[in-house]
Amino acid sequence: MDCLFCKIIAGEIPSTKVYEDDNVYGFLDIEPQAPVHIILVPKQHVASANELTEEHTEVIGKIFLAAAKIAKEQGFAEAGYRIVNNCGEDGGQTVSHLHFHLLAGRNLQWPPG
Ligand code: 5GP
Ligand code: ZN
Repeated sequence: MDCLFCKIIAGEIPSTKVYEDDNVYGFLDIEPQAPVHIILVPKQHVASANELTEEHTEVIGKIFLAAAKIAKEQGFAEAGYRIVNNCGEDGGQTVSHLHFHLLAGRNLQWPPG
């Protein structure tokens, strides 16, 4: 399948890995929007939040647990962080493989642009 993040997960395109378990892969964003900018993805291809079904319940939970674990390990859990999913055109999604941005290391503004 011609999917950028599937290729990253398979190691066909290099990435800086920060997390991996059986179902989840985490790597540094190539264009960081904060001092910490990690992308967390299910290893199984899912195009977007619109394609989620009951079978994905566990992996989405594991992605959030991975984010909280990384936050503690990297020391920004107390300062805070943001987990973002962009879905579809209006959501600003540019890669059609479901992913969550983990952003930290600066005071993030609200509302987003
Ligand atoms: P989206 O805009 O779809 O929510 O997020 C896609 C993210 O993937 C962007 O933040 C973008 O910088 C990142 N990205 C795009 N191509 C690559 C790549 O080849 N390697 C890495 N590590 N990140 C990428
Ligand atoms: Zn994919």
